[in-house]
Amino acid sequence: MASGLRGIKTVKDLVVKDKVVFLRLDLNVPLKDGRITDETRITASLPTIQYLMDQGSKIVMTSHLGRPKTAEDKKYSLEPVGKRLSELLKAEVILVEEPGGDAVKQLLMGLRKGQLILLENVRFVPGETKNSVEFAQRLAKDIDVYVNDAFGASHRAHSSIHALPELIKEKGVGFLIEKEIQMLDQLIENPKSPYFAVLGGAKISDKIAVIEKLIDIVDGFIIGGAMAYTFLKAQGREVGKSLVEEDKLKYANEMMGRIEARRKTLLLPVDHLVSQGIADTTNTRVTTDANMKANELGVDIGPRTIENFATALKSAATVFWNGPMGIFETAEFSKGTFAMAKAVADCPGLKIVGGGDSAAAAEDSGYASKMTHISTGGGASLEYLQGEKLPGLEVLRTKIRS
Ligand code: AMP
Repeated sequence: MASGLRGIKTVKDLVVKDKVVFLRLDLNVPLKDGRITDETRITASLPTIQYLMDQGSKIVMTSHLGRPKTAEDKKYSLEPVGKRLSELLKAEVILVEEPGGDAVKQLLMGLRKGQLILLENVRFVPGETKNSVEFAQRLAKDIDVYVNDAFGASHRAHSSIHALPELIKEKGVGFLIEKEIQMLDQLIENPKSPYFAVLGGAKISDKIAVIEKLIDIVDGFIIGGAMAYTFLKAQGREVGKSLVEEDKLKYANEMMGRIEARRKTLLLPVDHLVSQGIADTTNTRVTTDANMKANELGVDIGPRTIENFATALKSAATVFWNGPMGIFETAEFSKGTFAMAKAVADCPGLKIVGGGDSAAAAEDSGYASKMTHISTGGGASLEYLQGEKLPGLEVLRTKIRS
């Protein structure tokens, strides 16, 4: 068993037969005009739902979706998600408008095989994000067993993640969380060498804690995206109008010193695709070295950088990738990120992609199926790797007396 799961029951350890099971899922899928544009989180939730259905459990599911302000914010309704679940499970999914209301009790009494209850977006209730005990008590009153399979929300102390399981005795994680933890533990417990962390994205500040945690574990860091410009500026490069975290220049310098002192590798961009503005896709050029002109900003890594990064990954035994190499949402600036997706996918070792933008980039690049694991939780996977205790997991852990 992965050590991150020590003291936590998984759904197979729980007595769920004929019980009412509250299943907290992460069905926070992207929607466009009411249509689901990426159903990864729905399909990732199916094994636990299916298992509970096979066990004859009466299932009460819920999730958050987006950041609604009130229940009137119908664009965040779980209705389209319920419809899709119903198609995939070949079952009837009954949407209950008011999570924590009285309707569930009635429904449970007449619930038949092949019917599941889906509570509306839990964030429609203001108490959810406040970890309200009162809301948790209302949710708890009809249920026997609590299962958390919402990895992407487990770093949040919210009612349906934290306050609710505190009230329930029989509780554990579903298959999705079990797999996430098993995979992420391989990145921090005796990982195989050579091990590279490929980091990108907008801000160093979001990744500092993970760099700190991984510095003694990895053989090297490969850094691209806007994050790299703070490091390059700290080295005295001219980075023009690129996104730089001025207040992190000192940190970047110290970090580079520590990486060097430990004889670890640090690969930074040696060339860039630059533009005159974030939305300007016509006035672009590839720089000849790591410097730019004062009126330019970096939007992607350049071709020599792509080659350097890909070469380093060729023999990697372990890779953790989090964060795009450029503004990959813009097709003209996506080459570096997609090339890294390929390089990570092609490497022979264990390759794990942190969630969020890197998961989307892996999908868009067409290399997703070649990754060992793509996490469904961006923030949660980073916090877990940093060694933070995730409230949604800790609450499920049996206290082991020493
Ligand atoms: P993060 O959430 O920190 O992983 O950042 C992801 C975001 O970083 C994406 O929306 C990218 O567009 C953005 N990003 C990556 N490279 C750059 C860059 N060179 N300039 C501005 N934004 C970038």
